[in-house]
Amino acid sequence: MQELLERTKGLHRTVLIVDDEMIEREMLGAMISDLYDVIYAPNGAEALNIIRQEKLTLSLVMLDLHMPELDGYSLLKIMRSDSELRRIPVIVLTSEKNAEAKSLQLGAADFISKPYNMPDVIRARVQHAIELAEDRIIIHQTERDELTGLFNKEFFFEYARRLDNQNNNMPMDAIVLDINRFHIINELYGRAYGDMLLKKIGNSLHELVSLTGGLACRSNSNCFGIYLPHANNLKKALQMYLSMIEKALGDSKVSIRMGVYSDDGDKLDMEQRFARAGLVCRKIESNYTTCFEIYNAELQNKELHSERLINDMSVALEEKQFKVFYQPKYNIKDPKPVFTSLEALVRWFHPEYGMISPAEFITLFEDNGLIRQLDRYVWNEAASQIKQWKNEFGFNIPVSVNVSRVDAFNPKLVETLSDITKTNDIHNEDLLLEITESAYSDNAQQIINTVAILREKGFKIAMDDFGSGYSSLNMLCSLPIDALKLDMKFVKNICDNQKDYRLVGIMTDIARLLEVPVIVEGVETKEQYDLLKELGCDIIQGYYFSKPLPANEINELIRTQLKGA
Ligand code: C2E
Ligand code: CA
Ligand code: CA
Repeated sequence: MQELLERTKGLHRTVLIVDDEMIEREMLGAMISDLYDVIYAPNGAEALNIIRQEKLTLSLVMLDLHMPELDGYSLLKIMRSDSELRRIPVIVLTSEKNAEAKSLQLGAADFISKPYNMPDVIRARVQHAIELAEDRIIIHQTERDELTGLFNKEFFFEYARRLDNQNNNMPMDAIVLDINRFHIINELYGRAYGDMLLKKIGNSLHELVSLTGGLACRSNSNCFGIYLPHANNLKKALQMYLSMIEKALGDSKVSIRMGVYSDDGDKLDMEQRFARAGLVCRKIESNYTTCFEIYNAELQNKELHSERLINDMSVALEEKQFKVFYQPKYNIKDPKPVFTSLEALVRWFHPEYGMISPAEFITLFEDNGLIRQLDRYVWNEAASQIKQWKNEFGFNIPVSVNVSRVDAFNPKLVETLSDITKTNDIHNEDLLLEITESAYSDNAQQIINTVAILREKGFKIAMDDFGSGYSSLNMLCSLPIDALKLDMKFVKNICDNQKDYRLVGIMTDIARLLEVPVIVEGVETKEQYDLLKELGCDIIQGYYFSKPLPANEINELIRTQLKGA
């Protein structure tokens, strides 16, 4: 397309005049030859050869209708159905008045009546037809994706809105189509192969929208948007779209998936509808047995609920709806377990929903960065509690707090934590920081640097959920940490799953190699406790000893322990 535009930009545009009457050909040619390079053909068949040869340079065809061999109507039809010739405008030449409508219907750009007695009008029409076609190329270029010829995202949304207006807002389906593991395919087989797949999908989408009367776009590298009139039997229709595209892809070993949002009268704006379709499409990303999923009420409720929690978060902070609970940890090295420290775990007492567990909102707040405010609040609460206990009992009870992966990348983390311990007048070593193992894999070097600075300042660091991430032994050895906290899933089946039992053993050995204690959480039963003790674990946390409790109940617990001691 770019090449085409470059050529049509030159001053010399070429016009082909096709007429079996030599005199008429020459007359018409003479009228425009000062402006254009004119070439001639005496019949449709010869004209078609020239058009095919000169398809990149021809700016216009002026076409007589009645000719031997191949008449004007047939030539016009051939040109319109050929994607490479379609862009060349055609002006029809005839003396028949009633041929006008038919020619325009067949896709002629304009119409000039014989005999040619108004040269100025003819010159103006020729110029106009050429300009219009060139403008269309420019528009086509900016609104289309070059590889697939589908709309690009911005124009797609605009045209989809217009389509809604034209169709009186009839129900439509918004579909997001994605190729599974496309980046791997690109890496394995090369970019050209990836492009070929995208083109094939593009072609089937062209076909699909011409069948259904919808629109399609390529919205980013391997993602497509499709906007189609709502299918009553949606699942069946989606199955059909899928098989159509998969057929076009042949045995290329790639699979695709689609997320669908059906507009059922809620009149969301176009971006929102596709955002929902995209959400569903992402949801089934790692689920290779599902090729499509439709946005439904359950998902909608979940989304609304999440939105509500996000909206309520700042008021909740102001109104202190978040409460910090504390779960005791016990050292089990001696015959009798000794209470050593606590973990601070947040709970949200929502005025409407009651108590909400952190599992419900932590990831949500991590996605939009709100977690930073919440964690700062929790750390501050924990620090102030450490001080209160110190005042009350006369000794330090260390408390560990969770540090989200989002905090871990905050350049001001060290400053924030130091401020908190200083304001609450506690020692840095009383605040233990739990950082989940998977945060280390996000950006190992950066986290290692931050952790090193924190330790220099006296903070103690535990790697949380150890065994759930992908740390290499090599990385672990260079890691500045003070404790390994095993992921709960290993403890769960330790009594009846030999493999999990051995894994805990291996992880305990790793901790010994690193010369740090092993903390095991999620311990619920005596059997689990005994096995963990046998394996040499150092510290235990779990319902076996106590659930996470509010601070005042921890007070009671400490008092009882002190009495018993
Ligand atoms: P985590 O840090 O791995 O915390 C351990 C979770 O296990 C806690 O869930 C705890 O209540 C639960 N648990 C403790 N003992 C047992 C047991 O014996 N059996 C079972 N089944 N579960 C037990 P919780 O409080 O719901 O917290 C879930 C996760 O939310 C935490 O996992 C942590 O990743 C996150 N979280 C909690 N509070 C905070 C916070 O203040 N900030 C951040 N960033 N994350 C937090
Ligand atoms: Ca934790
Ligand atoms: Ca954990």
